[in-house]
Amino acid sequence: MNVDSIQNGIVIDHISAGSGMKLYDLLDLDNLDCSVAIIKNVQSRKMGKKDIIKIDADIEVNLDAIGYVDPEATVNIIKDGELVAKKVIGTPEILTNVLKCKNPRCITSCEQELDHIFKLTDKSAKMYRCIYCETKAK
Ligand code: ZN
Repeated sequence: MNVDSIQNGIVIDHISAGSGMKLYDLLDLDNLDCSVAIIKNVQSRKMGKKDIIKIDADIEVNLDAIGYVDPEATVNIIKDGELVAKKVIGTPEILTNVLKCKNPRCITSCEQELDHIFKLTDKSAKMYRCIYCETKAK
């Protein structure tokens, strides 16, 4: 893949085709000032088709969100035009501030400063529950 266009930033690669937009929303990339590219349905020898997100800025992204959307996705960190780190996130045990609890009586609904934390309770079903009230994540 060509990452020449990015000097300092993040390339999220090997996102399963069709999940790129969901990840874009979860990472709230719409609100960034830097250029963000989402490339859909890229031909991949390994996967058939995949999505790629390129973020042209040295920012922190929520790795939990990436692992939640696609545990197989790879995160490439580019510094001064060089690939300096490449990681696969896997399925996170804990999601911090990725999902919001839908239960109106949950403590996170009234205490705004609390982190929204979900715990993986069933790995095969990819089921997460709120750690405060045990409501299932949708
Ligand atoms: Zn809750």
